Amino acid sequence: MFLKKIELYGFKSFANKTILQIDRGVTAIVGPNGSGKSNVIDAIKWVLGEQSVKSLRGSKMEDVIFSGSTNARQKNYAQVILTLDNTNQRLPLDYSEVNISRRYFRDGQSQYFINNTECRLKDIHELFMDTGLGKEAYSIIGQGQVDQILNSRPEERRIIFEEASGIVKYKSKKLDSIKKLEQTQQNLQRVEDIIIEIE
Ligand code: ATP
Repeated sequence: MFLKKIELYGFKSFANKTILQIDRGVTAIVGPNGSGKSNVIDAIKWVLGEQSVKSLRGSKMEDVIFSGSTNARQKNYAQVILTLDNTNQRLPLDYSEVNISRRYFRDGQSQYFINNTECRLKDIHELFMDTGLGKEAYSIIGQGQVDQILNSRPEERRIIFEEASGIVKYKSKKLDSIKKLEQTQQNLQRVEDIIIEIE
């Protein structure tokens, strides 16, 4: 699996439709200070479901939408589309290419898509679990993050190894099942109470 293309529209400094085509091997994005290099990384994190505005270097989610400049009016929504090569089927979808997209409007409306079909944020999280590319995975290492990882507590560092070893999906399913079990046990308890009342 590798990132083939990033399409940005109205995202931060990318007012107009901008397409970044990425080949296999090493790609470097270079440019003067303030030209938008970090905004590209923010776009990748954002489309993968980043919800923390602080992590996106803003103060509110609306800050991801192009706010206007001397030459261009502000945009009403931001959209980012990632295209991933999936010929090795690392993503559990029967497609050799997978598109992930997120759109956010000024009125707060938010949409996510997998291969142009609208989906939930949860679906995006689940799709990328154990691939190393989730929003909190290790594929994106920000400035100062290496120090942070080295200085983190063993329990925090363990999360990285769990993602790499591919057990996050199962841990998440286990948690869902435990919740369902608890709910079922409560329902059973209620049924038993009703039976006692009737008898
Ligand atoms: P450096 O090399 O200094 O780290 P950079 O190339 O990584 O810089 P970014 O931090 O990606 O630059 O981009 C900062 C630019 O993006 C600033 O000029 C800022 O005004 C612009 N910007 C951020 N959010 C928006 C927005 N919502 N609308 C318009 N421009 C924005």
